[in-house]
Amino acid sequence: MKTVVALGGEGIGVEVVEATCELLVAAGFPLRILTPPHGEAAQATDGSPVPDQTKRLCGQADGILFGAAGGPASVAVITYLRWQQDAYANVRPIKYYEGAASPLTNPHGIDFVVLRENMEGLYPAREGDLADLARAMPELRDRIGRGVAEYGEGRFAVKVVSRRGTERIARFACELALKRRTQGRPGKITCVTKSNVLRDSDGFFQEVVEGIVAQYPDLAYEHFHVDDAARRLVRFPQTMDVVLCMNLYGDILSDLAAEGAGGLGIAPSGCFGDRWAYFESVHGSAPDIAGHGIANPTATILSAAMMLDHMGLADEAQRLEAAVALVYREGRHLTRDQGGAATTREFCKAALEALG
Ligand code: ATP
Repeated sequence: MKTVVALGGEGIGVEVVEATCELLVAAGFPLRILTPPHGEAAQATDGSPVPDQTKRLCGQADGILFGAAGGPASVAVITYLRWQQDAYANVRPIKYYEGAASPLTNPHGIDFVVLRENMEGLYPAREGDLADLARAMPELRDRIGRGVAEYGEGRFAVKVVSRRGTERIARFACELALKRRTQGRPGKITCVTKSNVLRDSDGFFQEVVEGIVAQYPDLAYEHFHVDDAARRLVRFPQTMDVVLCMNLYGDILSDLAAEGAGGLGIAPSGCFGDRWAYFESVHGSAPDIAGHGIANPTATILSAAMMLDHMGLADEAQRLEAAVALVYREGRHLTRDQGGAATTREFCKAALEALG
């Protein structure tokens, strides 16, 4: 028996996590699922969005499943799960399932991962007044020679690219590509930066990544600037394997890539640190459809499959993914975002039946 902590978060996150947990239990998987207080409710009852007892349970759990963040109380949960645990590797699989509502003419065979560096780059935001920056760094010039003071009133944001942060995400990318290679994928890293413009920061990221990738002679490697990468993800998604992105680029490109494979309703993710992992859908709390029971639970079910795999329940993970694939292939119980009329629970019922 393994223990899972399930935290719905906010909006549709609550609905899709609840439905997914019911599915996991009905499937008879060897899981004990705990749902400790968190977010706004915990703020009201315990005076904190992530009470100590919830943190303790997360620390002891074999797996953590999160729904979606929206307002400050659920963002505080993400802050705990992601930033405070140094979960630096955000794995976002982009896979087309036959029957999903892709806008692409030929989505068949799309199967890659956007690997987003999760801890630095432009996030978490470190911003300030231009006047303070001008005082602190009077010699700072942009590439055309303008000093900071010449911009007048305004703000700035700082992009951080550390050697340690870049080396560890590059290593993670290579290990992931090797693992995928054993599953029949090509074993290729596509590095995404804007090093032609941000020569010192993005250029450093690219240089460090290339140093690490050179230690993995079995892997293929390519680098694209982010604008070119965006275009290629639409035009040639089948050529991608592990797409290693700096934080902001990964944030944007993973939504773009997910849409190509059928939309946010389908896109799962996992965030990994050295001794930590949690799993969540890529989508947010979707306030426009929250409370209606019509959200697509696929992203959360597939996130749960990633979690099961990580917990050592590979067979259960594969069965769950195969069941989802079957529901899409049959096409009779798809949710509205996929052109169907099924509710969240009807989709889960179909997935349970597909599990056999
Ligand atoms: P937030 O601010 O919490 O991120 P948002 O609405 O800005 O919320 P998303 O929650 O990611 O961003 O949603 C973007 C769009 O995709 C919305 O129109 C939403 O209804 C739709 N969407 C997202 N997830 C799902 C889902 N699981 N099922 C159906 N539609 C979804």
